[in-house]
Amino acid sequence: MRLYKIEAVVLRARDCGNANKLLILYSRERGKLKVMAHGASKPASRKRGSVQLFSHSRFLISRGRELDSISQGEIIEMFSFLRNDLEKISFASYLAELVDAFTPEREPNAAFFELLITTLHLLVSEDAELLARAFEIKASTMFGYRPLLEQCTHCQGPLAGQLYFSPAAGGVLCADCRPAYTDAQPCSRGVLELLKLLLRWHPARLRQLRIDRPDRNRIKLLLYGFIRYHLERDLKSAAFLNYFPTEAGRTGV
Ligand SMILES: [Zn+2]
Repeated sequence: MRLYKIEAVVLRARDCGNANKLLILYSRERGKLKVMAHGASKPASRKRGSVQLFSHSRFLISRGRELDSISQGEIIEMFSFLRNDLEKISFASYLAELVDAFTPEREPNAAFFELLITTLHLLVSEDAELLARAFEIKASTMFGYRPLLEQCTHCQGPLAGQLYFSPAAGGVLCADCRPAYTDAQPCSRGVLELLKLLLRWHPARLRQLRIDRPDRNRIKLLLYGFIRYHLERDLKSAAFLNYFPTEAGRTGV
């Protein structure tokens, strides 16, 4: 039997009969993996905690002919705070769905793994909505879709006057170039500067930002449009998150 060790976050966990679980993991060493956790749903299973959704765990994996399976699991962090807070569960689900959507199987990206772990830790106490926005723009950048924010994406000219943002163009547009892109949305100078900070700053610094509700909604719209365009799909958990009330302090994606 051939074994290997990984450190991973559980992105998805599906019961598939006989107390077995089929898991999608995102690991530091091997990127995204699909593995079976035999007997993991049994109350006495020692793997039980380590295979819970969003758990950050160490696994010993044994290679299988079709599907690898978990031999041992050890919890590093369960993020149990998530389990009592519906809003945070929703944001964590959205992050997990983004990770799944962005990453190909078995291609490690240590920086992205760190971003995921950092963001999950910060979800305990920080502004979940801003963390999600930063995660969106950083993940896009790490997987080759960095939005161009420093000059007009189309004519490379300087940014002056009314500005626009277009997923199809891949970034910000000047007013002259706006008609070339039907998906262009208005983007104020302030929103543009916030996008740059979300891209550049470490997520722990985001607490310094004071962003009003209209700008939050605008950024949400622009970045979600950008992600949908590049991933060529809708994200299920994003639709769910929109049901949250949007008064200050509460959030929608
Ligand atoms: Zn232009």
